[in-house]
Amino acid sequence: MTDCADVVVVGAGLAGLIAARMLRDKGVDVIALEARDRVGGRTRVETLQGAPFDLGGQWISSRHHRMRDLCEEFGLQTFPTFHTGKKVLDLDGQLSTHRHTIPSLPLWSLWTLTRTLAKSERLRRKVPLDAPWETPDAARLDRMSVADLSRDFGMNRTVQALFDVAVRTVFGAEPSEISALYFAFYLNASGGLRRLIEIKDGAQERRIASGAGEIGKRLAAELGSSLVTGTPVRRIAHRDSNILVETSQGTMSARLAILALPPKQAAAIEYDPRLSPGKQSLLDGFRMGTTAKVFVFYRDVFWRDAGFAGEATCAITPGSSAPQPLTWVVDNTTLDGKVPCLLGFRVGAPGRHWRARPEAERHAAITAQLVRYFGPKAGSPVAIVEHDWADEEWAAGCPVAGMPPGLMTTHGHLLRDAVGPLHFAGTETAEDFCGYMEGALESGERAASEVLAIL
Ligand SMILES: Cc1cc2nc3c(=O)[nH]c(=O)nc-3n(C[C@H](O)[C@H](O)[C@H](O)COP(=O)(O)OP(=O)(O)OC[C@H]3O[C@@H](n4cnc5c(N)ncnc54)[C@H](O)[C@@H]3O)c2cc1C
Repeated sequence: MTDCADVVVVGAGLAGLIAARMLRDKGVDVIALEARDRVGGRTRVETLQGAPFDLGGQWISSRHHRMRDLCEEFGLQTFPTFHTGKKVLDLDGQLSTHRHTIPSLPLWSLWTLTRTLAKSERLRRKVPLDAPWETPDAARLDRMSVADLSRDFGMNRTVQALFDVAVRTVFGAEPSEISALYFAFYLNASGGLRRLIEIKDGAQERRIASGAGEIGKRLAAELGSSLVTGTPVRRIAHRDSNILVETSQGTMSARLAILALPPKQAAAIEYDPRLSPGKQSLLDGFRMGTTAKVFVFYRDVFWRDAGFAGEATCAITPGSSAPQPLTWVVDNTTLDGKVPCLLGFRVGAPGRHWRARPEAERHAAITAQLVRYFGPKAGSPVAIVEHDWADEEWAAGCPVAGMPPGLMTTHGHLLRDAVGPLHFAGTETAEDFCGYMEGALESGERAASEVLAIL
């Protein structure tokens, strides 16, 4: 390992990789240190059933322009997510189908849903993306959880179940675990609730044929020997403009550092001098979601042939029966159609429940759930592959770390602040598309610009 550089970047997820590339392109002597023996962090592409599948982040939208630019630069083909046909809604075990994003509901529920969407639109537009803690009424909103917000919005049980399922899928967390202010910020950073949950014109609009995980690999290849994997950073000491970075492989020195890490991982590093109590509490206070992706492979796309989109949403009203393993299911077949796949998300409280069950029981429940939605052919998968991000040491959950009530208005203003020569990146610090791959890139660019302005 090189023992000195102008800038050390800690973490080779998309945020760290883009920051390192920007600095290198400006002629800065930069080293990126990555704990895992692979790059990409919360993006990861693996070959399953002979084709590339993303175990982590996968979808981009037409508004994710940084991701789209990188796809173009690297010649990576993108294609629209399949969503044509009947979509299934499972509401406490009652099945219905619908063709558009909004399910067929009784008139009163439809009216409440429309009002909920309008209220969340009005709320999110009040949040300044660069300073959400300055939102009018920030203190009250931050005392509330998203569950409190849904009561404030006057949702009926059906609409609340739909709202909860959206929150659970987006954050991998329960509405009671997320601050209403943070939620409003997150909506605004992504262009609103509908954009977050929709496929067409939404965050799930397009896929990358060779996998989103390919982007990290391409960025890493450009960095060559400026990137060192298998090197967790344990301790960072800094005096004036000299930083000593202690890793499992030795110590290196630098003038400036970019910590491109999920908040909990940044909090776990030992700092000398210590971070301010506020910054440490902020990083410690984030709560990582629980998300596992479940790939269910079949011999053919039987659901398409039966007129289904392959999309299903499992909503449960508060206090109702035992949760199903999959909260959201979507068609994840390869572009060429050769590897038919339904992708399910095991998230939030139902995800935690099923994570603790034996694999055989889980697989039987997953198959039974899909049979209920798409018919008997769903009962004979070729393979089921689960990837639970809570098992990955350097992520400890996914897809994003969210703020619980109270954190934003106490310490949120410190989120993007540098601490002496230490600068902070990572999707959780993004203003644009916070929580997404696009947000990771935005945060890396911002941190690299901060550093360039100093050098
Ligand atoms: C299941 C799942 C589904 C998702 N779906 C989507 C999606 O469809 N679309 C989308 O846009 N986004 C999605 N996301 C989110 C997206 O993947 C992330 O927002 C993004 O990849 C985060 O990048 P990052 O660089 O900020 O952080 P990370 O990717 O977490 O990178 C941080 C890096 O730091 C390393 N590290 C940690 N601690 C240390 C240390 N002490 N020393 C050295 N290195 C360290 C980690 O190993 C990691 O490589 C999903 C994520 C998951 C997991």
